[in-house]
Amino acid sequence: MAEKRDYYETLEVNRNASEVEIKKAYRRLAIKYHPDKNPGDKAAEDSFKEVSEAYEVLSDAQKRAQYDQFGHAAFSNGGAGFGGGFAGGSPFGDIFGDIFSDIFGGGGRGRQGGRGKRGDDLLYNLEINFEEAAFGMETKIEVPYAKRCDTCNGSGAKPGTEPKTCPTCKGAGQMRFQQGFFSVSRTCNQCNGEGKIVESPCPDCRGTGSVRDRKTLSVKVPAGVETGNRLKLSNEGGQGLKGGPNGDLYVAINVREHAIFKRDGNDVICELPVSFTQAALGCEIETPTLEGKVSMKIPEGTQSGRIFRLRGKGIPALQGYGRGDQMVIVRVETPTNLNKQQKELLEEFARISGEDVNPMGKNFFAKVMDMFS
Ligand SMILES: [Zn+2]
Ligand SMILES: [Zn+2]
Repeated sequence: MAEKRDYYETLEVNRNASEVEIKKAYRRLAIKYHPDKNPGDKAAEDSFKEVSEAYEVLSDAQKRAQYDQFGHAAFSNGGAGFGGGFAGGSPFGDIFGDIFSDIFGGGGRGRQGGRGKRGDDLLYNLEINFEEAAFGMETKIEVPYAKRCDTCNGSGAKPGTEPKTCPTCKGAGQMRFQQGFFSVSRTCNQCNGEGKIVESPCPDCRGTGSVRDRKTLSVKVPAGVETGNRLKLSNEGGQGLKGGPNGDLYVAINVREHAIFKRDGNDVICELPVSFTQAALGCEIETPTLEGKVSMKIPEGTQSGRIFRLRGKGIPALQGYGRGDQMVIVRVETPTNLNKQQKELLEEFARISGEDVNPMGKNFFAKVMDMFS
């Protein structure tokens, strides 16, 4: 596969370009490469797609941050990509609605008139547990989608009848107007850009050409995903209508909280309670990791809050190589509910030790004295 161009390079902006600069750059390049201005020019069409894709990512603060961190890897991995981002609906809808509505007329997605309608993008929320996120998993999901109606083969017309060519636009789906220096095209109002009119609607799909159905898909969740990552299953969204392409399916990952582990990037954080005698005398203690217990040495005189690093026991990097570490934060527990004998022993301990029992405290109170002297 050819090396993908850097999105910033594609939009000809620098990496700290503002939102306004990015939008301006996109507008300029999108107009330059727009298929309406370069009919039949494959290179221009590719550039237009490239520019649109770059803008889709860089115009969204969250996606841009992900791209800055992971590069293209943030959004593609074989067929599945990652992205945090838009909350459902087609990203192109937004782009064209936002920028092109004023240039090319209210055509929504530009060249869709008479050429079918792209299927809806679907969003599926997948909840997985901490270990599944760390090591990846495969699962099956059932998604509703709009399927082409078999009764009418997606035409929307009652079997035995044919959709009629729209008399207003003569089947083009678009109406062209001269407006100043521009030739502006608008979606035909009578046929809504379809170019055809259904006079006797299909009874099964009520003339829409599609019916609701469910399908089961296999989803491969790669190791290292986090809440907010999205997997993209291209063409698995709603069925395109009347010859239009299918939409995409996005699987949004939500990782359930773990009882003991927390996550910080690719590191796993875990608090380990130890008794104050264990901390004072040192001990060998069993520590949970993602792959079972490991034995860890707590040296004599360990203070609460001290962090031990277990190398390579963290989460595999989503992209690239290697794994994070596990950080074990020691929490020394002060004994409670002491019985009489235990109390006597501790008092005895304090008597023998004198002030040297708590060097940190001594140091602290010395500083307090300095403050007020
Ligand atoms: Zn039908
Ligand atoms: Zn029409």
